[in-house]
Amino acid sequence: MKLLLWAVAGFLLVMWYLHVKKSNQRSRHRDGPAGGSQPTPDAAASPEKMLRCAHCGLHIPSSEAVTADDGRLAYCSDEHRLRHRG
Ligand SMILES: [Zn+2]
Repeated sequence: MKLLLWAVAGFLLVMWYLHVKKSNQRSRHRDGPAGGSQPTPDAAASPEKMLRCAHCGLHIPSSEAVTADDGRLAYCSDEHRLRHRG
C-alpha cells in the first residue's frame, strides 16, 4: 500500500514538474530578452545616441553623423571624414 502512495506522489511530482516547465517556457517566450522589442537601458536614457567626431571632437546626433566605411568612427561632416583619412 505504501508503494502505491509513493507511486502516486511520484506521478504528481512529475506532472507538476512538467507543468512548471511548460509554463516557464511559455512566459519566457512571451517576454523573452531575445525578442529585441524591449528598449535597452541606454536607448531609454537618451532618445538619440550622441557620437563624437573623430576629427574635431564635436558631438553630433547619430542621425546627423557621417560614419566611416567600417562604421566604427563617426564624423560631423563628410569633409572631416575625408580630412581625417588624409
Ligand atoms: Zn568634425
